This record gives sequence, C-alpha cells and structure tokens, in this order.
Amino acid sequence: MPIHIKFSYSSYSRNLLLALTFLFLGTSSAFAGLNVVTTTEDIASLVKEVGGNSVSATSIAKGYQDPHYVEAKPSYMLKINRADLLIYIGMELEIGYLPLLIEGGRNPNIRLGQPGLLDLSSSIAPIEIPVGEVDRSMGDIHPYGNPHYHLDPANGPLMAGLIADRLSLLDPDNSAQYKTNLESFRKRMESKLKEWSARMEKFKGTRIVTYHLLWSYFMKRFGLEYAGVVENKAGISPSPKHLLELADTMKRQKIKLILTNNYTDPNFPNLLKEKTGAGVLVLPGSVGGVPEAKDYIGLFDYLIAKVEQALSH
Ligand SMILES: [Zn+2]
Repeated sequence: MPIHIKFSYSSYSRNLLLALTFLFLGTSSAFAGLNVVTTTEDIASLVKEVGGNSVSATSIAKGYQDPHYVEAKPSYMLKINRADLLIYIGMELEIGYLPLLIEGGRNPNIRLGQPGLLDLSSSIAPIEIPVGEVDRSMGDIHPYGNPHYHLDPANGPLMAGLIADRLSLLDPDNSAQYKTNLESFRKRMESKLKEWSARMEKFKGTRIVTYHLLWSYFMKRFGLEYAGVVENKAGISPSPKHLLELADTMKRQKIKLILTNNYTDPNFPNLLKEKTGAGVLVLPGSVGGVPEAKDYIGLFDYLIAKVEQALSH
C-alpha cells in the first residue's frame, strides 16, 4: 500500500504545517478594525471604498491571475482563519478552490449561513444563464450564468451596497461611516459612468471577438456586440475547425478587434490577427491586473481608454 502511506504522510505534514503556522502567526495582527478577506482584488477595492479606515481588506487572487484557477494554499487558509468576513463573487467562479480554503480555514464564523461569509452575486442581475442541460462536455461552463459581473461598472455600486450592509451588521458602531462612504462612492461612480458612456457612445453596435466570455457585462453596458468567441468551450483551447470558421466570419464581417485578457494564451488571438488583420487588445480583467488599475474606478478608466483607442483606429 505505498500510495496510501504516501498520501497519509503528506496530508499529516500539511496539517502539521498549518497548525504551526497558526501557532506562530495567530497573534501578530495589531489592526483593531474588521479584517476582511476577498477572493478578488475588485471586491477588495470596493471594501476599501466602503470600509475606509475601519477595515483591512486583502485579496486571495491577484488581479493578474486567472480567477477561475487559484491554488488552495495553506497561507490562504490562514488568512480565512483570522478573518472576520470573507467575500466572494459566487456563481461558481471560485468553485475549484474556495470550498477547500473555507474547510481548511476552520473559522466557525466563515461558513454558509453565517454572517462572516458573503456571496456578492445576489446584488446583481446575472446574464448568460445556460438553458437546458449543462454537462462537462460543454467545457468549464458556469451553470448560474456569467460570473464576471464586476466588469459592468453599473454593478460596482450594487456590490458596494451589499458590502456596506454586511460591514454594518458586523460592526454597527461604524455603520454611519459605511453609509457615508457608500454614498460618496455612488456619486463618483454616477459621474464616471456618464463620462465612460459618453466616450463609448460612438462605438455602439460595433462587433468584436473576445477570447473568453469575460467581457460580456462590459460589452452589454457599452453596446458592443459579439461576432464570435475564440474559446468555443469555456476553459478549453479552441479547435482548428472553430478557429478557421471564426477567421472566415471575421473577414466577412470586417471585424477589427480581438479582445483578450492578460492571463490567457496569446497564441490563438495572434493567429487570428495574422489571418484577418484585426488588432489584438490585451486587457486586465481585474483591479491590479496592470499597475494603472489601482482601484475599481481606475480599472474602468484604463479599460475605456484602451478600448476607445483600439476602436478609433
Ligand atoms: Zn469565466
């Protein structure tokens, strides 16, 4: 039974490592406010907007990482063990790693149904909910709809609203401050959304190709349309047949832009660029994806400027 022995040993040493880490680092936090852990940097940015100086917010995934695939490291379990609140995107975006982290974090307040766990997807209206039966042959499909809703800037204030409610529930002493911060963020977003919409107005109805269905909410908000998607099955490399058909469609419809993101394989978009002459624009899908996208508003300032520039050529 060598395999069984090996498995037990590695599982034993992992637990031991985790226990030791808790022991040595468990009392090092000097910050007295709410300790919030988020799965993405977008959520962490919204927590900072609403929470101000009364919270600390750290993200598990970095903005330049693929948010679908994050390694379930013991250091993340430690973060969850010490957190007051864990906020996630939901709609199965984090299904591959978050249940493991929550279990390993062993924090009784961070469990389904406890106020220490917040799924942000209930704040927004989902799109692209698959109809009919969903199975593995369709790729890494999201059965509750497209989870990349933070990329509609109109969803930011809704997500922030739910965050403010939860911070107030956990920390009622500062609830007036959370409310004020939320209002200030909403006002800034309202004027920014007007500006971004005005700049994107002239591109309404433009058909583009994207790599993954990452940009659906962004495109819907600003009136951009799909001519096709490079990944014909989510999370799976496109077949040569699909690429040829897509190149044909792009040439026929004179598609000028392939939008991709900074953690996916650049080879397929570049191949299509060679075949069709369309431009490839690599964009960050999250806060922290590039240094300029420092916070939620900064992300959209960056995205709008890049898309505007690419579509103006
Ligand atoms: Zn996705």
